[in-house]
Amino acid sequence: MPSVASGLLTAHLKIRVGERPLEADLTVPRGAVKPVQLLPVLQSLSDAVVARAVQDSEREGLAVSCRKGCGACCRQVVPVSEVEAHHVGALLDSTPEPRRSLLVARFREAGVRLREAGLLERLRDPQGLSGPDRLELGLAYFGLGIPCPFLEDESCSIHRDRPLACREYLVTSPAAGCARPTAEAVHLVPMPVKVSVALFRSGQGAGPGESRWVPLVLAPEWTDSHDQPGARPAPGMLEEILKNLATTSARP
Ligand code: SF4
Repeated sequence: MPSVASGLLTAHLKIRVGERPLEADLTVPRGAVKPVQLLPVLQSLSDAVVARAVQDSEREGLAVSCRKGCGACCRQVVPVSEVEAHHVGALLDSTPEPRRSLLVARFREAGVRLREAGLLERLRDPQGLSGPDRLELGLAYFGLGIPCPFLEDESCSIHRDRPLACREYLVTSPAAGCARPTAEAVHLVPMPVKVSVALFRSGQGAGPGESRWVPLVLAPEWTDSHDQPGARPAPGMLEEILKNLATTSARP
């Protein structure tokens, strides 16, 4: 039941996550906002789903093995929603110098390496790839060993702002397995629903069940050629994302 206070609207969400219900209060402005302004509430929801998934995994005796200082997974293709790509662009723009230039140079260097390896054009249109082609591209990308530009000393330097896909990627297998991310070597904590995928499915122009995402490493160049969507009523946007959440599966 929504409650309204001082220009904000709070919706009480109750969804089934695994075997148990998960309840959360989601507070958004009543009026129109840009989609990126919904990110904090979606990050909180994602964190709540992930915490529940971790609890369920631990109940089965499978503890999360991810640790600070282990950034092997930060060399994979990280899919981010269009909204998050704009957030990454804004993060970069607001980063003070000289760090901003350092990050921009890392993104640029990654682009050069991807071009040299012949992967850049395919990465620019991941939606156009078949499942097997996307898998092959992901393995080729990982083979290049390009660290995420935000990776510092094998830790995430934007931990509070990290993409939803990063929040939802946790493993219970030994860290060494992440050096060769195959289904045999890496055991992911199963996420019953994924807020990241709900956002992919809320991308501009996405048809029913379709996903729109951008590789994190290409987010700055993507935002250079894509304007932020205009403001829309926040409750309606949240409702659309929650409807998509109900249809999410483990993969985009
Ligand atoms: S944003 Fe952070 S957690 Fe995600 S890939 Fe980059 S360094 Fe890793």
